[in-house]
Amino acid sequence: MVDKIFQKFHLSPDHPESPKRISYIYDQLKKHNLLNKCISFKKHIKVKQWLNTVHTDNHIESIKENYPEAYEVAISGVKSCLSAVEKIEKNRCSNIFCAIRPPGHHAINTGKVEGFCFFNNIAITAKYLQKKYNYKKILIVDWDYHHGNATQDMFYDDNTVLFFSTHDKDAYPGTGQTTKIGIGKGKGYNINVHLPCGTNDEKIIEVFNNILVPRASKFKPEFILISAGFDGRHDDPLGCFEISDKGFEKLTKIVMNLSKKFCDNKIISILEGGYNLHGNAKGVLAHIKTLDSI
Ligand SMILES: [Zn+2]
Repeated sequence: MVDKIFQKFHLSPDHPESPKRISYIYDQLKKHNLLNKCISFKKHIKVKQWLNTVHTDNHIESIKENYPEAYEVAISGVKSCLSAVEKIEKNRCSNIFCAIRPPGHHAINTGKVEGFCFFNNIAITAKYLQKKYNYKKILIVDWDYHHGNATQDMFYDDNTVLFFSTHDKDAYPGTGQTTKIGIGKGKGYNINVHLPCGTNDEKIIEVFNNILVPRASKFKPEFILISAGFDGRHDDPLGCFEISDKGFEKLTKIVMNLSKKFCDNKIISILEGGYNLHGNAKGVLAHIKTLDSI
């Protein structure tokens, strides 16, 4: 899922969450003859009721008023995710990657941009799957370098969404402690794994195999969503991990194996962070080539 609209809007001229993130991805897709596999989102999809599943009216109105250009692009991101659901539900494919920006997993209801995020794309997608298509159990895998605090908060008391996040808890936004396991009936359905600076392929793959795989196998998801951030890649200006493209391929494969076993290969992967323009595009390429190898 790609669209030129994601090459619009910049928070400030030198901000790392740049429209170039998408043009670099686009260049890689073109170079590797993958543009023929790309589709755009349905422009007419109505999103208001779906935004409201996790966001307050005050938040939505405030973003619209204070960040009009960001609002248009962020809404298009949400539309892309919902279009991806529609495409999969109509049996036209089993997995889709949404090359969208701005990211979403820090978007809480403050009425402001939080960690470059405006609307929580992945949380809205999970709600859409549940309410429109009656999915009972959704797994969200968040391998972005930063903790997906908004996603955690939105499903913290919910046992229908298993949230698994690997991140550096010492980085922005300072959340993601391993003791945060959920509350009420959601207890045990929030899994935070802190990884230190220097984390490499071997370490993160071990965590996926030893923690994610057994827990997800017990949960038996019906649909899997990935918060795919590539700021854990080596040479990212905002991260301090050392993950390679081979590492991202392997993480993708582990999630695909879970999806094959439990949910008929269904995966929607949504771009989150990744701020080395070339590195982010290479990480995305490795990820989608793996998704495409099904
Ligand atoms: Zn990030």
